[in-house]
Amino acid sequence: MQLIYEKSIPGRSGVKLPASDVPTAGALPSALLRKESAGLPEISELDAVRHFTNLSRRNFSVDTNFYPLGSCTMKYNAKVLENSAALFAPFHPMTALLPGGEEFCQGTMGMLHELGGILAEITGMDEVTTQPLAGAHGEMTGVLLIAAYHAAKGNRAKKRYVVVPDSSHGTNPASAAIAGYEIITIPTAPYGDMDLELFKKAMNDEVAAVMMTCPNTLGLFNPHIKEIADIAHSHDALMYYDGANLNAIMGKVKPGDVGFDVIHVNLHKTFGTPHGGGGPGSGPVGVKKALIPFLPTPRIVKSDNGKLSLQTSNKGNIGRTANFFGNFGVMAKAYAYIIMLGKEGLIQVSEQAVLNANYIKAKLKDWYDLPYDMTCMHECVFSASKQAAQGVHAIDIAKFLIDRGYHPPTVYFPMIVKEAIMIEPTETESKATMDAFIEVMIEAARQAESDPGSFAAMPVTMPVTRLDETKAAREQNVCCLE
Ligand SMILES: *Cc1c(COP(=O)(O)O)cnc(C)c1O
Repeated sequence: MQLIYEKSIPGRSGVKLPASDVPTAGALPSALLRKESAGLPEISELDAVRHFTNLSRRNFSVDTNFYPLGSCTMKYNAKVLENSAALFAPFHPMTALLPGGEEFCQGTMGMLHELGGILAEITGMDEVTTQPLAGAHGEMTGVLLIAAYHAAKGNRAKKRYVVVPDSSHGTNPASAAIAGYEIITIPTAPYGDMDLELFKKAMNDEVAAVMMTCPNTLGLFNPHIKEIADIAHSHDALMYYDGANLNAIMGKVKPGDVGFDVIHVNLHKTFGTPHGGGGPGSGPVGVKKALIPFLPTPRIVKSDNGKLSLQTSNKGNIGRTANFFGNFGVMAKAYAYIIMLGKEGLIQVSEQAVLNANYIKAKLKDWYDLPYDMTCMHECVFSASKQAAQGVHAIDIAKFLIDRGYHPPTVYFPMIVKEAIMIEPTETESKATMDAFIEVMIEAARQAESDPGSFAAMPVTMPVTRLDETKAAREQNVCCLE
């Protein structure tokens, strides 16, 4: 495929601007003038539209096909939500920080303040910062808040460890390490959650926090949370909740009510805003009262008369974690999503997400191994070990699905399951879509029995066939595709 620059024809143009009918405002200083032409492609509007539309058709998206990528919540995002972000487009995000800006920005600050309040209510926290730009960024912010909390008590040097179960999302230990902590990893017990006895043995007064992905990456909700929180608190360790996949529990349990002190949520997973390809995301962080003094600034505060203002002093808190107030457009969409669904709607989201995952689990468990056969939450984790014995691995099943028009589930994650196939259908898929997917998964299992050799060439319907996965990730070259 040609680059758009290669399609350029000198003199061709997409638009014709009329001659200026207003006086020019004076010449730009010559130092600011271009020395050479910008070399932009000269192309008609129709050719440009065809070029980009054809490129987009080589991409895979939720808007084109079912996308059951575990732990990513690739659900359908209602297009009407884009309008709410567009409403705020005329406002520059720095305006509130200008002299007199607070007065002018009561509406935009009000939306952020209200969104923070709603998220605090949903998660059982006392205040929320919307600054972090992604889930992992929220984790780092949360762990820095925990570090600031211990530092204020004179315990920063003593509190050296963060405890993380091996069933947590990989970003958890990475974020804690970036924030300066050493990691203690706790293995998973046969019941599918952090081994409680090993956890008790590992806990000591040098632990700063226990970070838990809930539900964990096996899609299971830990039944011992209250006990774990009590043990952590008895050592003055804080409890961190990775709430990226809050569509598993929203409206059912508030993490703040069962002992968690800090949480991040992914607006771009749970709250109806698109993601993928690196962003934009938003990972607001909620905290209990004791941590409010350390929240990033500027912080939006409401006075008794309802006026909003900005607390900008960063004395004693962790300062800024992102420019402006974070990814404002994502927050506008998430706010609209929450208002649109209301309390009952959000509860229904969780119920449907969990029901869909359990439906797929029940329908496929006769065909694929299910290492932890329990009621799951928003996703279920199979193993292709039965198929691997025939020489057909999880990656081969993934390629089979590509040929049949499905985005593959997450494979080889979580790493504690051999040949893992992690399926997250999300709440927005119909039974008919899931049934069609289940049929294809069963077909793959049958073919693995009858013709295991056939998988090696897959995918056969794509512009490229089997790639060296590592090389493809490191040396991306999407333009060479004919
Ligand atoms: C996606 C995810 C994250 C990371 O979120 P990003 O926005 O991709 O940084 C963290 N934890 C869990 C459980 C996730 O599913």
